[in-house]
Amino acid sequence: MVIAPIRNVVIVGGGTAGWLCAGMLAAKLGKRGERERGIAITLIESPAVSTIGVGEGSWPSLRDTLQEIGLPESAFISYCQASFKQGSTFVGWRDGSEQDCYHHPFTNPAGYTEIDVHACWQALHGTKPYHSAFCLQPELCEQHKAPKQLATPDYAYVLNYGYHFDATKLAEMVADHCVKQLGVKHVKAHIEHVISQDNGDIQAVTTQCGQTLNGDLFIDCSGQTALLVDKHYKVPWQSVKDILLNDSAMAVQVPYDEQDTTIASTTIATAHPLGWSWDIGLQHRRGVGMVYSSDFAKPEQIEQCLKHYLTKRLPADAAEQAQCRQLSFSPGYRKEFWTNNCVSLGMASGFIEPLEASAVAMVELGVRMLCDQFPQNREHMAMLAVRYNERFSYRWARVIDFIKLHYAINQRVNDAYWNAHRDPATWPDPLRELLALWQYQPPSRYDVIQNEEIFPSASYQFVLYGMGFQTQSPALASSSDMLKRATVITDKLKAALTQYNQGLPDNRALLNAICNRYQQQSGAQL
Ligand SMILES: Cc1cc2nc3c(=O)[nH]c(=O)nc-3n(C[C@H](O)[C@H](O)[C@H](O)COP(=O)(O)OP(=O)(O)OC[C@H]3O[C@@H](n4cnc5c(N)ncnc54)[C@H](O)[C@@H]3O)c2cc1C
Repeated sequence: MVIAPIRNVVIVGGGTAGWLCAGMLAAKLGKRGERERGIAITLIESPAVSTIGVGEGSWPSLRDTLQEIGLPESAFISYCQASFKQGSTFVGWRDGSEQDCYHHPFTNPAGYTEIDVHACWQALHGTKPYHSAFCLQPELCEQHKAPKQLATPDYAYVLNYGYHFDATKLAEMVADHCVKQLGVKHVKAHIEHVISQDNGDIQAVTTQCGQTLNGDLFIDCSGQTALLVDKHYKVPWQSVKDILLNDSAMAVQVPYDEQDTTIASTTIATAHPLGWSWDIGLQHRRGVGMVYSSDFAKPEQIEQCLKHYLTKRLPADAAEQAQCRQLSFSPGYRKEFWTNNCVSLGMASGFIEPLEASAVAMVELGVRMLCDQFPQNREHMAMLAVRYNERFSYRWARVIDFIKLHYAINQRVNDAYWNAHRDPATWPDPLRELLALWQYQPPSRYDVIQNEEIFPSASYQFVLYGMGFQTQSPALASSSDMLKRATVITDKLKAALTQYNQGLPDNRALLNAICNRYQQQSGAQL
């Protein structure tokens, strides 16, 4: 018996998750000639339910994604008011003292796979912060340097980078490209009902205006509504509030005080007694917000804290007038992500909190796996679903370990919120075991063992030593050869620093130049 091939893909939701999914699927399947063989992609979004509208920080993976979708980088940067993100800067997370600041850059320490970076840092550069002992990016970020030059081709880099961008504009731009260039059908309608087949698969969804849309594969990108995965399939949500504590955020968009104000190269995450704030610089405005736990703070306290934070770079009256938007979330993820013929992505599948901006990256990883292993038919789909669920359960667990690491080893002893994070009862078991191990040896590739790990061991080192964690010196003394090699690496970095300082423009200068060039070449009105 020939099993019918998967031909109709229906994506529910037109936020960042829905449109990135549509773009990647349409571009990748199109390249493989699937469109000619009859694969159709339809995206339905409700005019009545707005997108979440936050989520402005990405990983470097977004460069690959946009390139695969077929969008020129300069068009993206111009339309989405995007800027370059070279990592995250953590202010006050260790103990809240004046000097308390560390970076988690997007570049691994130089020589990371050749030498024991931790041991060489201790032996040669003990007084330098870990992040800058073998990595130039933090120092260049502190000077607001761009990660490339105007002549560097689209998506190529001198220093690895992702983006800060306007999430609403990104969805608009990808939507336009998907419809005009990639053959995606866009339906603006509110879905009211789901029609099931005998085997429990979804056969179709029906909209408020009476339209029926059939599909072989449904992708639930309906955000916190989780229309298919929750409302229809009732797949349980595994809460991690007992681990991560945060369940609320307050967001605000603020203008720059001057048009040419410098644009930060990183997301600035600042710890406060009741939570932490993000600060993201786009070209035309900053996106700022506080993340906190409703068990430890009331919205009025958070609003006060946020406005006080804003006064550092805004006149007091402008800060006071800023319109704050309250958001609630239940930190956690689905017990399974692929059920019958339905895959969930984005907020419908999981969200734990904005720290380290992993949510959009998880969407990209999900779509990439779906594209690379696209089901040929229903039998194949069942096999893929098992593997997908295993892989993404593992990934969510690792994201949670990594995010909790930022909090677990804090030394902010005067704040109930931070004390609660330090309580080992709130630590996931794998993290507890790793922290015990890391007293004796630094994080390594033996600790994060799958290919395509979401956070590599170098990321753990940046956070661990940025937070002041102490790992004992290795049992075997570092060989003189290794220390010599480390010195050669450091000397090369010093020379490169001078070159980069001279050759790299600052963020705003490069962004202005890219947008001007794009406008001249395309005649686009921004
Ligand atoms: C405070 C905060 C900060 C964040 N910061 C970051 C960050 O810096 N980086 C990062 O990667 N992520 C971040 N995230 C997460 C990020 O915002 C989301 O993962 C991302 O925007 C994807 O959202 P989504 O597309 O899943 O959902 P949404 O944007 O909510 O889209 C849902 C879509 O579903 C549609 N829909 C709903 N119901 C129906 C229906 N009945 N019929 C038809 N359509 C329907 C809606 O119309 C909408 O189009 C943050 C999240 C929060 C809460």
